[in-house]
Parts: sequence; structure tokens; C-alpha cells
Amino acid sequence: MVDPEIRVVTIADLGILRAVEEDPVTGRVVVTITPTYTGCPAMDVIRADIRRALAAAGHPDAEVRTVHSPAWSTDWITDAGRAKLAAAGTAPPAPVRRDGVVPLTLSVRCPRCGSPETEQLSRFGSTACKALWRCRACSEPFDQVKTL
Ligand SMILES: [Zn+2]
Repeated sequence: MVDPEIRVVTIADLGILRAVEEDPVTGRVVVTITPTYTGCPAMDVIRADIRRALAAAGHPDAEVRTVHSPAWSTDWITDAGRAKLAAAGTAPPAPVRRDGVVPLTLSVRCPRCGSPETEQLSRFGSTACKALWRCRACSEPFDQVKTL
């Protein structure tokens, strides 16, 4: 099961998957997920993918629950997920400081050559969840998953 917009990363890598439990009364499998970006159309596809995978695993009556609290942020993307994003040519989102300290604007590194000499071309990349960047060193454009 992968985010249809980020094919290489599993929903566990993205931190979307909160829990997989079996209802002790009904015996039904209950999968709990937290949506990523508000209004990200990928979530409907992810839900459908989860249902299909569960049905294939013998749980056609599984339930997919969506919880919005605590809200998902890009900090939930695991280190493995960040590494996979970079390997796929998408810059992972910057870590977010939540202790009230105003963060420095860290440069986004080019996922191809690793150069920090990059510039944002557009707040919107191939999807609304990503921004479009360009590397000044190798002049390759690349997507960055937006930091939330
Ligand atoms: Zn580069």
C-alpha cells in the first residue's frame, strides 16, 4: 500500500497508519488512519487501497476509520520514509520545531546531487502536496513534499 502520489513510500512510512486492530466483539479488522494534507485527493485512493489489500488478506468486511486528532504533520514521516523519498528524487519535508523557537530557513538539498544550492520555483509541484524546486548545481528540477 503506497501513497498514490508518492508511490515508493508506504502508508506506514508516511505515518498515516495509526493502528490495525481486531474488534473483540465482531472480529472485524479496524484500520485507523490519519489524513495527510487537508483535501489531499490521495486519501480516497489510500482508503480504497487499504480496503482492497484487506479483502485480499481475507478481511472483506474490514473497516477503515479516519481520525483527525492529533493532526498529521510531516514530522510523522519516518526516517525510512524520508530516505525513500530522497531515493525517488523527491526532497523530504524539513523537520519542524514545535518548541516555539523560530526555525532557521534551512535550504532544501537537491535529492539528485545533494547540493544545498537550490531555489523554489513554485509553491505547487506535480501535486498540491508538493512544491517545485530547482537545483542550481545540476539544474535539475525536483519536487519537495511540503512541510506541515
Ligand atoms: Zn542537484
